[in-house]
Amino acid sequence: MDKPKVAFFDFTSCEGCQVEITNFDQQLLNLLEAVDIVEFREIMKETTSDPLDIAFIEGSFSRDQDLPGLKNIRQRAKIVIAYGSCAATGGINALKNHKPDYQYKMEVYGADASMPHLETHKALPISAAVKVDYSIPGCPINRDEFVRVVSDLLHGKEPYLPNYAVCIECKKKENLCRFDNREVCLGPIARAGCGAICPSNNVPCEACRGFVDTPNYASMIEVMVNSGLKKEYALTKARMFSANILDNNLSPK
Ligand code: SF4
Ligand code: SF4
Ligand code: SF4
Repeated sequence: MDKPKVAFFDFTSCEGCQVEITNFDQQLLNLLEAVDIVEFREIMKETTSDPLDIAFIEGSFSRDQDLPGLKNIRQRAKIVIAYGSCAATGGINALKNHKPDYQYKMEVYGADASMPHLETHKALPISAAVKVDYSIPGCPINRDEFVRVVSDLLHGKEPYLPNYAVCIECKKKENLCRFDNREVCLGPIARAGCGAICPSNNVPCEACRGFVDTPNYASMIEVMVNSGLKKEYALTKARMFSANILDNNLSPK
């Protein structure tokens, strides 16, 4: 029996999620036994216009000229998965959405800000362009979660994403809470699934996986302010990986 054909595509992104997959070592080798990877720019030169069983799309939708390519992928693929927070929600790219277009370009590119290839619209999730069947958050993705989702799909099982906070994974590991170290951590509203890797390594969670489905933003901001952050800075911190989500739910007051 033919193996499922799988391809990886990238749009507006740092390609860090692709790089993370190449770091999978044995897990990638195991994956290669189960699927036929037919396109993956980071590791091979071959491309394909054939039908696909699974298309993984990395990066945000931020240029109209990407729409035909995205539609073509959608037409060819039985399953489309937006992987990485850029693709799932707009991710860190969406930071530019709440600033005037030229301002962020000047901050990043200085004198080169007017280069024509920098013309973009708002950084949006891939689902703003085409139907997405599943999303895998994370900046970058978590390897165990990625392999589990692929494995579930290959076994005809519905993949799931945890809808509870990173705090739960963190508490299970009996970590020192970063708040007890006078730091500010977004774990109470961040979506779990990474094994609380940051607080487990003495770094506060920045919610790179986005938030649980019904986060209590107001209480989170209040806790951050009570921990010494100015309200505007607390909002900026919460916005870092989830500007598209946060700005739709909580306006600075
Ligand atoms: S989610 Fe993060 S690591 Fe992945 S492509 Fe976007 S910026 Fe890079
Ligand atoms: S360190 Fe962060 S994730 Fe861990 S319990 Fe404290 S607030 Fe929650
Ligand atoms: S602990 Fe927070 S910032 Fe770190 S990987 Fe998990 S969700 Fe992302």
